[in-house]
Amino acid sequence: MGPRRLALEHVTIEAVRVRAEQTLYDAAMALPDVRAAAKRVSAASPREIGAELLRSATLLTDYSAPDACAAAREAIATLGIAKDVELWSVRAAANDHNFGTMLAIRDRIVILLVGRVLRLVDPETLRAAIGHELGHQLLHCASPEQMSTWRACLAIAQSAHAARAARRLCRCALQASELSADRFELLVAQDVAVALRLNAVLSTGLPSPGPGWNVDAYLEGCRAQIEASLDVGDVRTGISHPDDVVRAYATWLFNESDLYRRLTGRGTARLSIDEVDRVIERVLGVNEAVRDARALATWEPRDTTPEALGEAAANAITRLGAAVATFAHRVTRAGSSEAARSIVLEDRADESSADGVDAEELELLRRFEELERRPRLCAAGIRVAGKRS
Ligand SMILES: [Zn+2]
Repeated sequence: MGPRRLALEHVTIEAVRVRAEQTLYDAAMALPDVRAAAKRVSAASPREIGAELLRSATLLTDYSAPDACAAAREAIATLGIAKDVELWSVRAAANDHNFGTMLAIRDRIVILLVGRVLRLVDPETLRAAIGHELGHQLLHCASPEQMSTWRACLAIAQSAHAARAARRLCRCALQASELSADRFELLVAQDVAVALRLNAVLSTGLPSPGPGWNVDAYLEGCRAQIEASLDVGDVRTGISHPDDVVRAYATWLFNESDLYRRLTGRGTARLSIDEVDRVIERVLGVNEAVRDARALATWEPRDTTPEALGEAAANAITRLGAAVATFAHRVTRAGSSEAARSIVLEDRADESSADGVDAEELELLRRFEELERRPRLCAAGIRVAGKRS
């Protein structure tokens, strides 16, 4: 039995979205830092993005990559999307492997296959990965305000200048967005084993093990880790993307939901989508992140000068841009890249430093930026306004 075609309307798309997303983005926009970043960080134009694609990537066609193009067509047909889709293979460092999509292009859907990722996936996992990116298209670029909030959160999430509670809130919002997009991954795959296989491929950088893989053992390991974290009230950390254990667990939870059963006719339907969303909120620590940020909203931010915010955003985005050669979306899934390592390091520095600012890291970023003189068009086509010395 092939995947069921889904007639997704606005109301269905909103029903699929992880409930915490809106709460988190609303709380983020209540913070002066985030509002200031929203003014400073803008999207590159479709023309600039098009030029960057031509410079850094190759359009895949039915002649050069027939299976990949077929997978993309199947994914958009399953979700009932009436737009053309383009797949671009992005040149990257040898070990990079990732997927992404360009939210700022609206007349067609542009999906990025970074580095060697096409060699790692099988047709089913590729279709699922495209489903995730299509999920972002459906969920995260409906209005200029939504895009602007997302870009601001991305900048603050990685900014050493921002207050810790602001960073944490923005990270939490971005992670909730990823889990929403993961639900579309499962809606396209309509097989939880395929979605979990993709998760494993992107986190390990190893080729897909195929349908014979022991998905139950993988899931059991993820479930045990999350349940142990929940038992002790520990929150799983990440920056823009949750760790793979969280993603696997959340995908499995959605597979168990009544909503997934209603849409696809599959899954166990033993949990209501409300119950699932409540668990996700605990795993991500949503209530704590919102509470701490509300307290912060009444304080004076540490440094709200446009220069400081612009610099913080530029640092974060330049780094993200370098992460997977120019374009990237699932940065933390590029397990073997330099960028992913640097992000992991940043995360540790963040946890261990009292005020969240790591001087050594900032110095490294400054030196990196001296080397990096290219226009600041990067991951998801974002650039930062303002000139720095
Ligand atoms: Zn994503």
